[in-house]
Amino acid sequence: MGSIIDGKAFADRLSESLKSEVASLVADHNLQPSIAVVLVGDDPASHVYVRNKVRRCEQLGIESIEHRLPSSSSQEELLALIEEMNKDSNINGILVQLPVPEHIDDKAVIDAIAPEKDVDGFHILNAGALSIGQNQMVPCTPLGSLMLLKDQLGNLSGMNAVVIGRSNIVGKPMASLLLQENCTVTIVHSRTRNIEEICRNADILVAAVGIPRMVKADWVKEGATIIDVGINRIEEDGKSRLVGDVDFDQVIDMASAATPVPGGVGPMTIACLMHNTVAAAKKQAGLS
Ligand code: NAD
Repeated sequence: MGSIIDGKAFADRLSESLKSEVASLVADHNLQPSIAVVLVGDDPASHVYVRNKVRRCEQLGIESIEHRLPSSSSQEELLALIEEMNKDSNINGILVQLPVPEHIDDKAVIDAIAPEKDVDGFHILNAGALSIGQNQMVPCTPLGSLMLLKDQLGNLSGMNAVVIGRSNIVGKPMASLLLQENCTVTIVHSRTRNIEEICRNADILVAAVGIPRMVKADWVKEGATIIDVGINRIEEDGKSRLVGDVDFDQVIDMASAATPVPGGVGPMTIACLMHNTVAAAKKQAGLS
């Protein structure tokens, strides 16, 4: 039976070191990193995510400024707020919680954020920089997943890595990061043929799909390392619970190690957001 990769413990360690770094930035440079978080509308899951992010900021000494806009807000209003925050030198990071209401174009919103304040790493310039190996702001979930993999495996060079999912926020940046680590990378997606067969060749398997427990034991090579990015809420045995894209209970018998859901990649995403915010503050102050 494989081991459980404890993302929460790793994220706690990363947060502790960021907390010390923030304290030094305040003491030595009078620099308190700050992030503005914008939430548009009433999506309950988004409210939970924002609350968790703001709480984490408080724990680390990062200043957080919350903007809660009604779902009736227009795209122009949101873009004007972003423009104001781009110009405000007291704000180092800007995060607009996605999804935004349907009448707002999320691409226009992402592109409006100044790239150096884009702590989510979704701006086209940050995505482009990552794709040519000149990383600027790296998206938090793939960054956190890579940290877990390197902690678990050390050098990833030459390994076969398969990423399930090709989204701009997880699948593609994850593949770029693994390629930078000299893995042989395959992306599989909804149109891929023989997906199980390709996955069975993976030394590293990253699932970022959004289908509960899709990856079964017979998709997994013996001894593989599994990163489960999926967060899916399901009703089971009369209870509401969170499960990943990997059937953890089956797969852990085949794998050498796997992340659980919850307690795997999720906590790393928030810790990496803090990491990006501190990095943005240092860079903007000329301290990197
Ligand atoms: P997305 O919907 O944007 O992309 C899903 C991808 O899965 C697509 O590229 C699609 O081609 C692929 N796909 C769909 N059906 C498939 C199938 N049957 N076989 C193979 N591939 C298939 O989703 P996303 O934003 O990349 O998120 C993926 C999952 O990760 C979701 O469950 C999301 O909630 C979760 N997520 C978790 C975190 C975290 O912090 N842990 C962060 C972001 C996303």
